[in-house]
Amino acid sequence: MGVKVVGGGSRIKTIEEAIHVLNGLLEKQERFKRSKSNDIHAEENMAEQVGNLTFGIIKPDAVRGGKVGSILQRITDGGFKIRGMKLIHLSKREAEGFYAVHRERPFFGELTKFMSGGPCVVLALEKAGAVKAWRDLMGATDPAKADEGTIRKEFAASIGENAVHGSDSEENAQIEIAYFFSQLELV
Ligand code: ATP
Ligand code: MG
Repeated sequence: MGVKVVGGGSRIKTIEEAIHVLNGLLEKQERFKRSKSNDIHAEENMAEQVGNLTFGIIKPDAVRGGKVGSILQRITDGGFKIRGMKLIHLSKREAEGFYAVHRERPFFGELTKFMSGGPCVVLALEKAGAVKAWRDLMGATDPAKADEGTIRKEFAASIGENAVHGSDSEENAQIEIAYFFSQLELV
């Protein structure tokens, strides 16, 4: 039995399942690359897309505060294409699964209580260099240290309740997108 990470409408319930799906996608991509397809551009597009996707969350504080519209505006003004989006309400266990990497940290209980305390919006975002571009637009974890013009500077109240999440690597972006979205939910 693995850690349950997401529920609701998602078909993926555990970290192991998410990794299994991810491996399937990577295998599919490898097969695609090896194929004798004449469509060189399609192959280039697929390879490009992998590095240009990231995963984001508009966290419960921002949803509760009525900031979803403004944050989505900042995202599209920032040149991101929204490839997947839905409103979900994480259970405590699902939040613990998602942030499992922080389970030894002193703020883990507070973080997972906050993340499961109300609905949030999960996003698959596309842009050239998406992981860094989205983290740059979000700003520093602590809004007091975030640059002017960043989402956390404008919308976050504290280091704990900081409006948005962003993947920290391309690998994690793919894993996190696979936690929350099925292939059919990505446009
Ligand atoms: P996120 O992963 O949510 O995008 P991040 O990558 O900027 O944020 P992490 O170090 O991964 O920062 O921390 C994950 C989350 O844990 C933070 O966004 C914040 O909500 C919470 N957090 C981090 N440090 C603290 C802290 N010192 N006190 C309380 N909460 C914290
Ligand atoms: Mg992080």
